[in-house]
Amino acid sequence: MRPEILFSLFTPVTALPGVGPRTAALIERLSGPNIVDLCFHLPTGLIDRRFAPPLSAVPDGAVVTVTFTIDKHQPARNKRMPYRILCSDENGEMTLVFFHAKEDYLRRMLPEGEQRVISGKAEYYQDKLQITHPDHIAELKDIASLQRVEPVYPLTVGLTPKPLGKAISAAIDKAPYLPEWQDAAYFAKQGWPSWGAALHAVHAPTSENDLSPNSNARARLAFDELLANQLALGLVRRNMRGGRGREIKGTGELWSKVQAALSYILTGAQTQSITEIAADMGSSTRMLRLLQGDVGSGKTIVALAAMLIAVETGAQAVMMAPTEILARQHYDTLKPLLEAVGVHSVCLTGRDKGKAREALLSEIVSGETRVVLGTHAIFQKTIEFQDLALAVIDEQHRFGVHQRLSIAAKGQSAVDVLVMTATPIPRTLTLTAYGDMDVSRLTEKPPGRTPVETRALPLERLAEIVSAVERAIVSGAQVYWVCPLVEESEDNDLAAADARHAALTRVLGDHVGLIHGRMKGPEKDQVMAAFSSGAMKVLVATTVIEVGVDVPSATVMVIEHAERFGLAQLHQLRGRVGRGAKRSSCLLLYAPPLTQTARARIEILRKTDDGFRIAEEDLRLRGAGELLGTRQSGLPEFRLADLSVHAELLAAARDDARLILEKDPELEGPRGAPLRVLLYLFERDAAVRYLRSG
Ligand code: ADP
Ligand code: MG
Repeated sequence: MRPEILFSLFTPVTALPGVGPRTAALIERLSGPNIVDLCFHLPTGLIDRRFAPPLSAVPDGAVVTVTFTIDKHQPARNKRMPYRILCSDENGEMTLVFFHAKEDYLRRMLPEGEQRVISGKAEYYQDKLQITHPDHIAELKDIASLQRVEPVYPLTVGLTPKPLGKAISAAIDKAPYLPEWQDAAYFAKQGWPSWGAALHAVHAPTSENDLSPNSNARARLAFDELLANQLALGLVRRNMRGGRGREIKGTGELWSKVQAALSYILTGAQTQSITEIAADMGSSTRMLRLLQGDVGSGKTIVALAAMLIAVETGAQAVMMAPTEILARQHYDTLKPLLEAVGVHSVCLTGRDKGKAREALLSEIVSGETRVVLGTHAIFQKTIEFQDLALAVIDEQHRFGVHQRLSIAAKGQSAVDVLVMTATPIPRTLTLTAYGDMDVSRLTEKPPGRTPVETRALPLERLAEIVSAVERAIVSGAQVYWVCPLVEESEDNDLAAADARHAALTRVLGDHVGLIHGRMKGPEKDQVMAAFSSGAMKVLVATTVIEVGVDVPSATVMVIEHAERFGLAQLHQLRGRVGRGAKRSSCLLLYAPPLTQTARARIEILRKTDDGFRIAEEDLRLRGAGELLGTRQSGLPEFRLADLSVHAELLAAARDDARLILEKDPELEGPRGAPLRVLLYLFERDAAVRYLRSG
């Protein structure tokens, strides 16, 4: 239960004066539904209104606050003309200009013969000072409230600065005094303000310095957020590790047979990872391990080794992929290897319905099936195992902590969990998303790959590129053609892909296929099968092929509007080619002009193929929030912390969280109660439940 002290913050924004349902809906879209969300909506700029010169000394383009007498109203003579108000002070003159103005409103606000003060941006028109639509109009007695530094907030369509600013001020006023949860010594050393003072300070910047993520107030709030994240992960970890573990010690019998049958030998990194996994599984604490490995680094076989350890002890294993295509592909790869050593496996996805599904399920519960390959949808329904010992989750970045927990809850006793991610994640992010896990890294790729030649070309050269593709096909190549990401709507993606498919078919004939997320499973399989077999030469796709698809004979990757993709995503896509012995190329088509960031992104991609380095660069270029399209990624989103700047704070938060849980595991000591408040403040309610008296 959320502590009472936070009730006012977790009240809907409609409770604020002046916020009706319409504004509330806009605010919700912008920052979130509650007052706390507004408190954490930080300004990105400021307007300094302290400059108050006489009218005769107002510089062009400056934001000024000026005091004057209203001399005369000049209403607009027609709709296209502006409404003008002539004003003056002792030595100077000024015209106020309003378009589409309401006369009675203006006469009320700015009555002739009286003095007023306004703030706005000065311009000169035919050498005369004028201010169009001043930001503020006030009476002289209110000059102090005008002459200040105003924070500038990110907006959303339909929401203007004034109502938002008012709502935020009101929200901050509702913020309660909260007891200090920070370590007193660390806190003093940093010279940080209290939570309340920090909150006020971040919303009242007086200089650009105050907007810096390293300002005392912002750093403090960022640290709070990071500490909540690390503490929550620490609690999840403890909960998953807690209780009786199970010692899964394989005999090595099946795995050695499979290994002998492979056409290649494992890389050092693969062997090392398998050793680490075997040690985890064999120990009495539960395994929670992340296997990080770039595209094509050979994670699948490592997963197979782990699953065979479970099977060798008479238990079952499951491996889950985020998409059906991938689940099928794992099945196609692993089934023959498993069958050769007499291990029965099945593929189970959301597509299996009715009787067929029942049959699969009963095979699993009876134990006839030892290995289950499927989509993560498997785990949304109740499926029972005879004796599940290991869950492998492929392409983890689509999963969150919660899925991880629901999977872990499946076995009778603690199920070992191996998570594999194909997107190499920077170390700092690993810590925030997987702080609860041990990490193995496949830093070395299987030998014998030729690097992919990467080129960037403007979209104007499309015709040329199509001819090149045509030539490539004639000489036997297969081509992926990835269509742009349009907004966040799948429909639009689809339209773009459809159009490209039609256009390419016109030029290249009917060797061109199309695959997208809206297609039914069997349709997708057909297309993939045709492409895999080589019957289909060009595969036009939306980003459904992003993760994991393996067709070694494809050697050309064309990415349209490459500037719309993130670096990690481009790297993933490029990883679809260069999987066979033949030389591959990747063409990044972009719409000029490129932003500096887009240019830098393409440049990095051309220079390196090292996924870990690319991930670090991506973080540096974009800031963690945008990384990997965080929203869909399951990586935590931070509102106050910026991981491209606050990496050191994150490390400190991790150390602090560890120390806290070591000294006071149930958060019952003097710092415990405030720390619980912190967890609730950042909505880590689920983590609090792991406490004895949560
Ligand atoms: P990912 O890490 O992207 O899942 P995969 O497991 O799909 O990579 O492996 C990519 C390809 O590399 C597969 O065709 C696989 O058979 C092959 N492969 C894996 N390990 C090795 C190795 N040690 N030597 C040669 N090829 C390997
Ligand atoms: Mg894979």
